[in-house]
Amino acid sequence: MHYVSTRGQSEPVGFSAAVAAGLAPDGGLYLPADLPDLRLYLTRWAELPYADLAYEFLRLFATDMDGGELRGIVDRAYVRFAHPDVAPLVELRDGLWVLELFHGPTLAFKDFALQLLGGLYAAQIKKTRTPINVLGATSGDTGSAAIHGLLGLDNVRIFILYPRGGVAPLQERQMACTGANNVFPIAIAGTFDDAQRIVKELFGDLAFRAKQRLSAVNSINLARILAQCVYYLHAWRRLPAAARNDVEFIVPTGNFGNVLAGWLAHRMGMPARRFCVATNQNDILHRLFTTGRYETGPVSPSLAPSMDIQVASNFERFLYYAEHRDPGRVRAIMEALRRDGRWVFEGFNPDVFRATRANDEDIREIIDDVYACFRYVLDPHTACGFADILPDQPTVVLGTAHPAKFPDTIKQVLGFEPTAPALDALKARPVVRYELPADAATVRAFLEEHAI
Ligand SMILES: *Cc1c(COP(=O)(O)O)cnc(C)c1O
Repeated sequence: MHYVSTRGQSEPVGFSAAVAAGLAPDGGLYLPADLPDLRLYLTRWAELPYADLAYEFLRLFATDMDGGELRGIVDRAYVRFAHPDVAPLVELRDGLWVLELFHGPTLAFKDFALQLLGGLYAAQIKKTRTPINVLGATSGDTGSAAIHGLLGLDNVRIFILYPRGGVAPLQERQMACTGANNVFPIAIAGTFDDAQRIVKELFGDLAFRAKQRLSAVNSINLARILAQCVYYLHAWRRLPAAARNDVEFIVPTGNFGNVLAGWLAHRMGMPARRFCVATNQNDILHRLFTTGRYETGPVSPSLAPSMDIQVASNFERFLYYAEHRDPGRVRAIMEALRRDGRWVFEGFNPDVFRATRANDEDIREIIDDVYACFRYVLDPHTACGFADILPDQPTVVLGTAHPAKFPDTIKQVLGFEPTAPALDALKARPVVRYELPADAATVRAFLEEHAI
């Protein structure tokens, strides 16, 4: 299996090279040259435990890896999840489920991808004996999940930029209270988009990137998207047979990585009716899917900070398919977006997508209502998924974070604080973080000083 860049100006590469690189040299994102047809496997995979399902799926893509090695990496990635089913599908009422993706080490869905990615990096480093420096930007959960995927590994340093004051206090503690000396959490005086822009700029400097052996960990890494396809397949096979062709997956969305994974699984043959892109008040994707206008604007901090973005980096992968895999078109549109901050799709067809949005007031109301109806506590991100559940529609809402990560919001609405033992331990530990201005040159100098 080969991987091509959405911008068509990099050579196709194998799985391991695509994972190691993160971003393609031409600035595009890697995608499989051809998608496998999962209809050949879905029946056979119906009863497999989660890690076995993940292994069988990933094996179709990691064709340049030794099977036994991949098996070990997958097993180690999912054994750290606290629930025996890894991603339990919880029924709230007939036809409405929450897919709980928050039983990993940092209690958010990003653990699914980053526990795996950590294992893939470790294997590669062992093989090449070349240390790497992982650089990423986060609005909260990516950073902590990445850090916990790479914690304490030899020959890896990890630099995570995040907006100072722009992530929940417990999210920050998950990054800054690890006690591991290969971890550098960097609080930027700016927004998540500033952090992401700096990371992109440093990756765009090919000489610097090669010299520091930089590796990406934000949601653009191909392995993350593939790892996330697995839980859609897992949920799908757990549904009653009558719901399987008709199900709508509702996905609390920021960078478009999670929902893209579901849509790719669908493109590979997993039946589904629709994918709902659920945004918070930062609704660029809601506007896109309702009007065909993709237009970036200022970020407005919300109760669901991991969705506070205005540039959805994985959108480029969807664009590649929407533009009939024409990399010239992708380049033209990405260039226009960079230049003008907007693009209007003529005759836009939302395909199997719809979109909803929830502002902070909606989020509070939803948390209150869902608790009153089902005695089920939603975190503020998952709450966005409940903004507009369609009647008579089998629906799976992806539960992207554990409510205990956002105790202030829950307490304010429900009057009590949800807890999780993994988080309680953090509250006693000292915070170690680095404060830098939102300036690429300063971050570059910091990396030069601390990279391995
Ligand atoms: C990252 C994150 C999201 C957004 O996911 P994307 O893949 O960026 O669309 C939603 N909820 C939580 C809790 C997250 O951590």
